[in-house]
Amino acid sequence: MLYQRSSALFKEAQQVIPGGVNSPVRAFKAVGGTPIFAKSAKGAYVYDEDGNRFIDYINSWGPMLLGHAFQPVVDAVIEKTKEGTSFGMPTALETEIAELAVSMVPNIDKIRFVNSGTEACMSAIRLARGYTKKDKIIKFAGCYHGHSDSFLIAAGSGAVTFGTPNSPGVTQGTAKDTLLATYNDIENVKSLVEANKGEIAAIIIEPIAGNMGCIPPVEGFLEGLRAVCDANDILLIFDEVMTGFRLANGGAQELKGIDADIVCFGKVVGGGLPVGAFAARNEIMNHLAPLGPVYQAGTLSGNPLAMAAGLAMLKAINTDTGLMSRLEEKTKYLHKGITEALSKNNVTHTINRIGSMISVHFSDEPVVDFESAAKGNNDTFKKFFHGMLNKGIYIAPSAFETWFITDALTYQDLNETIAAVEEIAKDL
Ligand code: PLP
Repeated sequence: MLYQRSSALFKEAQQVIPGGVNSPVRAFKAVGGTPIFAKSAKGAYVYDEDGNRFIDYINSWGPMLLGHAFQPVVDAVIEKTKEGTSFGMPTALETEIAELAVSMVPNIDKIRFVNSGTEACMSAIRLARGYTKKDKIIKFAGCYHGHSDSFLIAAGSGAVTFGTPNSPGVTQGTAKDTLLATYNDIENVKSLVEANKGEIAAIIIEPIAGNMGCIPPVEGFLEGLRAVCDANDILLIFDEVMTGFRLANGGAQELKGIDADIVCFGKVVGGGLPVGAFAARNEIMNHLAPLGPVYQAGTLSGNPLAMAAGLAMLKAINTDTGLMSRLEEKTKYLHKGITEALSKNNVTHTINRIGSMISVHFSDEPVVDFESAAKGNNDTFKKFFHGMLNKGIYIAPSAFETWFITDALTYQDLNETIAAVEEIAKDL
């Protein structure tokens, strides 16, 4: 593969954009090499500026559940654009997508649309604090909820009662209100709650984690969280930015049969346009301005093009009764193929999978939390990543990311991917 034009574009971009990118992971820092500059994409494929074609397992980091340039979304956006791109006034379209979302997702009465997953999670936390009149939150090490200050807190020794910021610019004052827990460890959560009795507003979690690779909750963990929240007047926030409308029409709540108090959305809900949303029962949502005192707003929130894209996407998901099982079958097929290809070549690995999310960890231990995810061999991952790229398979440039399976992938694409893994595995 030649990356001449991508290299030149990257050099040029670095003069005017920090690191040449508008979101850090795109810079390939974890794996080295030059980021690929996308030119276009259709279905399961993304094409770069040098004319290379890649089978895409990133899919814009999740939104393209039905493939790139999905025709109903493209048509809806083009049509809406002709009528004006933003009004800053309510539109019928916003109610239409809200009604559909509320009908698809369990346990929510109202939904508010924002512009990103970060905004959704940030607003959900403010709402939880306003509703409970408490300040502290619990988040899990390795879970990502966007880049707002409260969430940029890393675990460290002694971080049992409060964390330390992991980005300059996040104040100690903010950090002290974010408590860190270990994913899949309910006893750890219970002890944090006990040590901070009456002070915790919310527990926020990726109900199926996707930002330390894919890590499903162990049996009973989400149930345990629900019980701890109920016993202590804590709101349970499911960050379904990744899992919402992906793992089931009603997301992880439906898949796992657990009700959250507030649910955050992003990615799929916008069909590839910048959209996030948060939702809850009336009792909680009615605390939000203009009904209640908790302020939250946005010039472009509910933007007509974004809502048109999201609506076309949700309609397609809602009417395709075979979609979720098709996605799962494809993911299962890929899992089996990759396992065989790596095992045949004695490459130590663990694969986690649920629905259309899958991740390959170069470690032989079960990957159940951030600590075990971090044990994966990063040098092997780097070789694997570049090997795949050179064979036209685009996976995320980080060992801590999930692969997203789209409905546009054919079994031929999957076979091509498995064959690439088999070739690369010989040199790992
Ligand atoms: N929450 C989760 C679970 C995510 O995976 C992400 C992004 O990857 C976010 C929140 C933040 O969303 P955004 O990047 O749209 O701000």
